Order: sequence, then structure tokens, then C-alpha cells
Amino acid sequence: MFMKLYNTLHRTVEEFVPHEPGIVRMYTCGPTVYHYAHIGNLRTYIFEDILEKGLTYLGYDVKRVMNITDVGHKTTDADDGEDKMIKGAEREHKTVYEIADFYTQAFFDDCAKLNIKKPAVVEKATDHIDMYIQMIQKMLDEGYAYISNGNVYFDITKAKDYYQLSGKKMEELMIGVRDTVEEDKAKRNPFDFGLWFTLSKFENQDMKWDSPWGVGYPGWHIECSGISIKYLGEYLDIHCGGVDNIFPHHTNEIAQSEAYLGHPWCKYWCHGEHLNDKGGKMAKSRGEFLTISLLEEKGYDPLAYRYFCLNSHYRNQLVFSYEALDGAAQAYKKLKQKVQSLDRTPNLREGKIDFYEDQFKAAIENDLNTSSMLTVLYDVLKDEELTDFTKLYLVEKFDTVLSLGLLSDVEVSEDVDHLLQAKIEERAIAKQNKDFAKADAIRDEVLAMGYRLVDSREGTTYVKI
Ligand code: AMP
Ligand code: ZN
Repeated sequence: MFMKLYNTLHRTVEEFVPHEPGIVRMYTCGPTVYHYAHIGNLRTYIFEDILEKGLTYLGYDVKRVMNITDVGHKTTDADDGEDKMIKGAEREHKTVYEIADFYTQAFFDDCAKLNIKKPAVVEKATDHIDMYIQMIQKMLDEGYAYISNGNVYFDITKAKDYYQLSGKKMEELMIGVRDTVEEDKAKRNPFDFGLWFTLSKFENQDMKWDSPWGVGYPGWHIECSGISIKYLGEYLDIHCGGVDNIFPHHTNEIAQSEAYLGHPWCKYWCHGEHLNDKGGKMAKSRGEFLTISLLEEKGYDPLAYRYFCLNSHYRNQLVFSYEALDGAAQAYKKLKQKVQSLDRTPNLREGKIDFYEDQFKAAIENDLNTSSMLTVLYDVLKDEELTDFTKLYLVEKFDTVLSLGLLSDVEVSEDVDHLLQAKIEERAIAKQNKDFAKADAIRDEVLAMGYRLVDSREGTTYVKI
């Protein structure tokens, strides 16, 4: 079976075939660190986390990179929109650098509470200015970009198929962004976007660098192309983000990356749908917004929110309400209690392991169907033919993807410890008697219970596998 993923580029579910067999190069847009992440943002990061872990479960070696947007992201896509970082700094009477550090840490604290793994490579936008300058220069040299009124813009008429990702015509997109795109006389076309802005336009910008076009700072979109190409190379397999990123952010990333590279760049574009509240899309600009800390203050376990998200497919909109979260919190608590009540006495693992693992894989392969993954988990727990020990084995494996902390509070009980110590002793005696067949049999028996014996000069101990 192949992994199947919905590819926004073609608006269909497709078989996933990476450029290099067995390896997945995956880029996920990171947070703009001018404020706390709201739980809608975190829904997108949960989706990306499950995607990474699901692919790993299927045996792929996933190389994942994420950026931290600490410069250049504006409140609107108009060129004179306020810079979000400057706005954050003014709000809190701090420097933009202090704001960036504080909210980057806050973001990763939230991720840790939700068992979202930190990507192997996380890079700040401000650390790669040289890369953007080199890319912009090449685009200027090759006629994809132009200088106007001190800024450097990308000319979207030079892109191969600028409207492919959004699937919309310019007129339709104009309606969608009418309120935020203001007429900028410096541009040749309304959707041309800034690659480099000079100081002349943003005098209160603290973050500024020398460039061949004057002191200034990069546009928002170039950072993701630059960081992705620098760390993942010229061919990307998967690029993710929330659906609001499709236009203009990802559309512009494709235009500039392919202009710079001179060939197609990313094969699969995967977008998570939004979390809405009753009033519509959850957004920081609407003033008060829901954070994970706020849910904690109200007594919710952050992982109950993760469970809430996993119950619906990432491509469906999800409406948040406290009633719905209460339901998920109850179900999550029951699930955890069920797992915790399983008898942990080591026993042979037997029966239907492959059957359930295959079902779990099929759920991953089916465009990351998280609610089906949960169904497989519940089926395992219900199955009367399975020993508790076998159930625990499967729960632990599935939880490497679901990351619901189902076994997190469990330590090796005293009973298990006694039993394993007895096995260690029995094996040592067998070895002394040169009965190596028996010693090996004991080692295998312990292995089947889910523990590996480790011999050293100090003696033998065990580790959980
Ligand atoms: P930002 O920090 O604003 O750059 O957004 C971080 C991520 O959250 C991006 O991938 C957005 O697409 C995503 N996002 C923004 N709003 C929502 C929402 N209401 N629900 C889900 N994801 C969102
Ligand atoms: Zn991005």
C-alpha cells in the first residue's frame, strides 16, 4: 500500500512518492512570534506532527524543517500594512528581538504540552538574510524581479502558473483579499509581492540589514523558500501549513522558489483546515483568543485538546466550543483509564498484532485519517482475544503517532521488576552452568515481554523496548 495524501496543487488525493525512496523532505511554516499561538494555530501544528510521526511509523526517514517568522510578516498583505513584530513590540514596550525570543519559547512550551515534537531543524528567518539576498539577486538578474520605489518586487506574470495552487483566477482572488490589498503604485501588478523592502518605507523597523538595494529587510515569503532550499535542497516532497497560507504565502513561495531554482520545487502541498469558533475563524487580530494556557487554567488537560483535534480529519473545518471540548475531555479520560487499568504483568505477546498494525497503517495511509487511527486503538482495547500485555504493546506503538500520553504515567511496577530480576538471575545461573541454550531462551522470553536484557561489567539490567 502507498501513503495517499490530498495534494492542494492538483486538488486530489494522490499516491505519495517522494523524490528519493524512503526519505521524506518536509517543510512546515512556523509561527510568527509576535504573540501567543492560539489553539487554531496549534491545530495546524498537531496535524503536521501527526503527519511526520505517521510517515515515520510507515518506515520513512522524515527530514523536517520549520522556520520561525521573526521579521517581515505584515498584518495585511498590502505593502504598507503594519509589521506584526513591530506591532507586538509596541504593544509590550519591548524590542522586536525580546518579543521574538519570548514568544518562540512560549510556542515551544505549548507544543511540549501537546506532545508536538520539535522539528529536527528550526531556523529563525533573521538568521538567513544572506541566502535571501543571493536568491533575490538571481531573480533580478533573470528578470523575475524588479526594483521600484526602493523596493524589490517579484513580477508574478513571469511565474510559470501563478494561480495553480489556489486554483482561482486573479479576479476571484481579488474579491477574497479586497480589504487587505491596497493599491501600491510601485507595483506592476496588484499581486506582485515584496522580496526586499527598504527603510524609506518603514522608518520604525528595528530589524534591518545592508543589501545591494539599500538598508532594509526581507518580505515575508522569501524566508520559507530560503530556509527550505538551504536545509532540504532543491527538491521538496511535502510542504504544509494552514489553508490561509495557500494564498498568498505558499503561492508566492512556489513562484520565487521555482524562479530561483529553474525547475519545479515541491511535489505535495498539504493544508490543514481551520479551527473556528462560533463567530468564525479564530484569529489573533480579533482581540481575545484561546490559548493552551487558558484551557489549562480552566482545568483542561492539553492532551484532551489534542484528542479533540484527532477526532476530526485535518481537511475538515472544526468548530470549537467548550461543550465539544468537554465531551472530548471525558472520552480522553476514559480512554486513558482503560489503558492504565490493563494488567502489566509481562506475558507473551500474541495474536493479531500484524492485523491491527496493518489496520493502523491503513488509517495513516488513507490521507492521515486520525479518527480511523483512534478506532483501531479502541478495537484493540475491546478485543477479548488479546492479552492485556499484547494490548499494551499495540497501544504503545500507536501512541508513537497519536502522542496522547496514554502510557506516560506508567512506570515499571514492583511486580514486573521482581519478575525480571528473577529472570536475570535464572539466566546468570544458566550461563554459569554453561547452559547457553537456556540462557538464550530466557533472553528471548524477556524480549517477548517487551524488555531487552543489557549485559555489562556491572551486571545485567533491563530496558523497555
Ligand atoms: P501564524 O503564526 O499566524 O503565521 O500562523 C501559524 C499557523 O497557523 C499557520 O500555518 C496558519 O495557517 C495556521 N492557522 C492560522 N489560523 C488558524 C486557524 N484558525 N485554525 C488552524 N490553523 C490556523
Ligand atoms: Zn512559510
